[in-house]
Amino acid sequence: MKKFKAESQRLLELMINSIYTNKEIFLRELISNASDAIDKLHFISLTDSNASRDFEIKLEIDDKARTITVIDNGIGMDENDLEENLGTIANSGTFKFKAENKTDEELIGQFGVGFYASFMVADKVTVISKKYGTDVAYKWESSGSDGYTITPSERDDCGTTIILNLKPDSEDNKTDEYLSEWRIGELVKKYSDYIRYPITMLCTSERKKEGTDEWEEYKEVRTLNSRLPIWKRNKSDVKQADYIDFYRTKYFDMTEPFHYFTAKTEGALTYNALIYVPGKAPYDYYTSDYKRGLSLYANGVLIMEKCEDLLPDYFGFLRGIVDSSDLSLNISREMLQKDRQLKALAAGINKRIISEFNKLMASDRETYEKIFLEYGASIKFGVYENFGAKKDELKDIILFRSSAGEKLISLKEYVSRMAPEQNEIYYASGKTLASIERMPQVEGMKAKGNEVLYLTDQIDEFVMKVLGEYDGKKIVPVGAAGEEVKDDNLKDLLTFMTEALDGKVKDVRLNSNIGSYPSCLTAEGEVSLEMERILNNMPTGKGIKATRIMEINPTHVIIDMAKDLFESDKDRLKKLTNILYGEALLLAGLDIGDSAEFVLSLNDMIS
Ligand code: ADP
Ligand code: MG
Repeated sequence: MKKFKAESQRLLELMINSIYTNKEIFLRELISNASDAIDKLHFISLTDSNASRDFEIKLEIDDKARTITVIDNGIGMDENDLEENLGTIANSGTFKFKAENKTDEELIGQFGVGFYASFMVADKVTVISKKYGTDVAYKWESSGSDGYTITPSERDDCGTTIILNLKPDSEDNKTDEYLSEWRIGELVKKYSDYIRYPITMLCTSERKKEGTDEWEEYKEVRTLNSRLPIWKRNKSDVKQADYIDFYRTKYFDMTEPFHYFTAKTEGALTYNALIYVPGKAPYDYYTSDYKRGLSLYANGVLIMEKCEDLLPDYFGFLRGIVDSSDLSLNISREMLQKDRQLKALAAGINKRIISEFNKLMASDRETYEKIFLEYGASIKFGVYENFGAKKDELKDIILFRSSAGEKLISLKEYVSRMAPEQNEIYYASGKTLASIERMPQVEGMKAKGNEVLYLTDQIDEFVMKVLGEYDGKKIVPVGAAGEEVKDDNLKDLLTFMTEALDGKVKDVRLNSNIGSYPSCLTAEGEVSLEMERILNNMPTGKGIKATRIMEINPTHVIIDMAKDLFESDKDRLKKLTNILYGEALLLAGLDIGDSAEFVLSLNDMIS
């Protein structure tokens, strides 16, 4: 008996004693090895007709002997190959890799562990193989970590037969299920549905005996995999209904997706992707329970059901699959390289999604608007995230309401219809469109003929701050700046009012652009009033305050009244100032504070 090489020994022990819950992946590993072996012979057959065959992977179940057998007619292995390939792990990177903060669970699940995965379910593994172009077959046999034997054997044609003797069925290691035709069929569908070669099995079915009402069992060979995945089929050969059906069956979602698209290789990595925009956000989408991700396949073999790394957070609402022939199933490749490949793949896909949304905005605006209404908050979050690292990529696919009417508009559209003398982009934020519409500053801006973007999402104002500008135009809140005061009399009035408000505002200033209102509230500096409201609703933002400025409209009758009172009755002016401040708070959607005092002052002024 020969000993396994040290690393193999360790991996083998890991498998034998595995508490990994997903032991079922052993079949995926064996089938993908069979497929690789057929690929190799298929390649030779392109130039050597002797090598061509009806390529096939056969599965057999024997429930009396408790064996599962996987048979391929691929390239096969000679004595030396068996020794090299099954006695050693090609690359000791495996364990370095393992050290890099992945648990066994993640490691096995995501990248597979190859041939040795058999030992999770089998206590004896027999491999009978004959290499293409040789006359002798060999048998490799092992019952675990003790070692293995290689002896001459028999096999008609080239290829490999792998026989697993299943471990006894037990509570924590259920193996009986792998003797069920139905279960094996299910596993092939789940992991190996898109293997290019037919995976066949002799299956039991029932039928009516001819001419009678009695049922009889019969056996027939069935192909278990569908082979060509929908995303690899020629787009012109696939009907829209097929794409929708695929979506419904894969994601159990009866709502028709808003949109779907396919993507192919961009740059150095080869991949096919099929991506859907669900017709409705999952109920938990905006919670931390939600798990985003695309299904990752390597050459038709499922590696991971939800690969988070393939989608940025802000596109987390998308569903779909990515299939790359450049990813290998083998964990023994360097982790670093895998990460780099995955990153490159994710970058390519991200770019493709953005270009698809840009295209859709132009070709089917209605659909894009539906998508944006459902997922816009998420996309806007992408602009804001990481200090705006992605803002340039995303700035053209975000939409806003504006003073121009019901329609959603993009920043590009806003800029394209700016008046020649307008050189800034204006926005106003508030809880609802109606409250923004009534803001004094908005009224003033509209009176001047300028369009104002209406921001109602919590994230909006943060997005604007991060963007800063678009197309060279500064993005600014409406009515930020007060006017310079030349009249000394007014200066004194403003000082008096500031003092009367007793620290509630930093300053009282003039602003003649606030429409029909006598007063309004703005903020100076980085934190706006809306941001103050939002931040104070978050556990981390409590106590953050905007620097408040009250602005008054020098042409308003009530301000005329204030001017008079400044000369005649400073007590009443104090009350009026408090009323103006209260009104400004109300208009800004803020809490008025001491409401009794406000009402009393108001009554006093009216009576
Ligand atoms: P990987 O497939 O990632 O290389 P595995 O542990 O799955 O790692 O397999 C180890 C090696 O054993 C393969 O690279 C291949 O050379 C050989 N091998 C396994 N199964 C077969 C098979 N059915 N036919 C031919 N060679 C095989
Ligand atoms: Mg393999």
